[in-house]
Amino acid sequence: MTFSSLGLSKPFLGILAEQGYTAPYPIQAQAIPAILEKKDILGIAKTGSGKTASYVLPILQLLETAEKQKNRHVKALVLVPTRELAVQVNEVFKTFEPGAAVKMKSLAVFGGTSINMQMMSMQNVDILVATPGRLLELVEVNAVHLNEIKILVIDEADKLLNTSFTKEFDRILGLLPAKRQNLLFSATLNKEITELNKLMLNQPEVINIEEKEENIELIDQSAYLVEDSQKGPLLRHLIDELQIGQALIFASSVARADRVADKLRRNGIDAQSIHSRKSQGARTDLLTKFKNKKIPILVATDLLALGIDIEDLPFVINYELPRSPKVFIHRIGRTGRAETSGKAISFISPEEEPHFYIIQKKMKKRVKLINAKEMGF
Ligand code: AMP
Repeated sequence: MTFSSLGLSKPFLGILAEQGYTAPYPIQAQAIPAILEKKDILGIAKTGSGKTASYVLPILQLLETAEKQKNRHVKALVLVPTRELAVQVNEVFKTFEPGAAVKMKSLAVFGGTSINMQMMSMQNVDILVATPGRLLELVEVNAVHLNEIKILVIDEADKLLNTSFTKEFDRILGLLPAKRQNLLFSATLNKEITELNKLMLNQPEVINIEEKEENIELIDQSAYLVEDSQKGPLLRHLIDELQIGQALIFASSVARADRVADKLRRNGIDAQSIHSRKSQGARTDLLTKFKNKKIPILVATDLLALGIDIEDLPFVINYELPRSPKVFIHRIGRTGRAETSGKAISFISPEEEPHFYIIQKKMKKRVKLINAKEMGF
């Protein structure tokens, strides 16, 4: 499957290539053609599935031919539950906007910051990414009008409906024109989402991206019982001893990921960190380089690692354990993909030992625990 078979125009294909998106993710393969056909969508997919680009690209292409609208009458509205998601989605629009045949302007608005700047920036906005409360505030002061919306996206609908947003949400729906295209995305399909589907969507194309069952049978796992202070020296020893040419290392926080990468570099090992505090551009660049084997060691937080699919990744290293056994399985599943065998190494501090026991039970696999002290660490 290629992006060019999905009906996207050439300039978008160019940007996709620049961004290192080589092939569409399943949600993109299904959603892009359906949205371009102006269908409503119910997409069950989590963050990390590539859902953002699956609606951003076709929206930009559809709006290329939309009539010019009065100022402050936006053409597309993306409702999101949080400020972080608003910023993130807007970044994706900004990445692909230059591919549109006509000039396109997107803007993210959210509470917790001054409304004045956002009011001023509303001039000539085509696509608005908003949290519900701030959107209504902007509507009240006539900074934006929603009665000519062509496309409505509700992203992370389960979170949106789970919070105190329900009333605001109903008010917003009341401001929209009846005739519009609706794209609803949710991580799960619960009662509220099913009802919203019946209420709002018109014969939607239902896309359910099942979480892939990770096949961890082929993965050769080992674990080291090691004090926190000895994890760095042990890591460097193993990189050398096992001749680790490429590894994805998981750390528990942004600060830890930075520190692990820094420490490796100071010891002459080429390592980079990747996490949510880095810009989208920097992240894409790092991932592309890592995929092309130009960076040997990448230290990541869980958030970023979800979408990482690298052929022939030989090693995954858990510098710290994740809380959830599911995430552990997901992490080590980055290696040993598609019939190739891979190795997963976990560092277990003495406090983490009981938790590691639970993880092994959940994954139905025992892993021999090597005491690093006996190796001199
Ligand atoms: P999302 O689920 O939309 O938050 O996307 C998760 C991550 O996957 C983002 O960092 C995207 O840049 C990246 N991504 C999305 N689609 C693709 C693709 N087809 N190929 C490579 N990376 C992608």
